[in-house]
Amino acid sequence: MNPYPPILSNLIRKLSRLPGLGEKSATRIAMHLLKAPESETRALAENILQLRSTIKTCSVCFNFTEEPLCSICSDPARNIGEVCVVEGTADLLAIEQSGAFKGRYHVLQGVLAPLDGIGPEQIRIRELLARLESEKINEIIIATNPSSEGEATAHYLLQILRDRGARVTRIAYGIPMGGDLKYTDRITLERAMKGRQAF
Ligand SMILES: [Zn+2]
Repeated sequence: MNPYPPILSNLIRKLSRLPGLGEKSATRIAMHLLKAPESETRALAENILQLRSTIKTCSVCFNFTEEPLCSICSDPARNIGEVCVVEGTADLLAIEQSGAFKGRYHVLQGVLAPLDGIGPEQIRIRELLARLESEKINEIIIATNPSSEGEATAHYLLQILRDRGARVTRIAYGIPMGGDLKYTDRITLERAMKGRQAF
């Protein structure tokens, strides 16, 4: 029988559903929240609530932001001629941390997965094509993950972008097949970005 009062066991159950947390760490976090100063726990709860009401996506690249434009799109020092296409914001952050890329991004918010009903209309491909029309883009670097869906998305993008006369490259070097950009170390990512090649 569960020895905890219902509120506590509910919290543990909810926390253990979060990515990367099992029941053991969920229990440890719940116990910590119970013992921490009330102001700390309250601030955390408020922060979680504010997350959904405050964070929006950038109107240009779909990175997370609190402003209409994200900090990268509004940075005049970024190279506007290079756009790196990623699946999600976590991948963007990983590339940013590598320091190897000074252009701007386009966050697809997913990958093509026909079996799950995710086609080109369900991810931000139309918006990418619109950027190609309206911005002075010299090169589009495709940095989807080296998974089967990431590869399929990359090839789909290559085809439709080339049809429109864009120069398209794909990061390749150093990222292991079946790997995940957001868990790739900084140096591997840096090499992958520097070693990108036309495909
Ligand atoms: Zn942006």
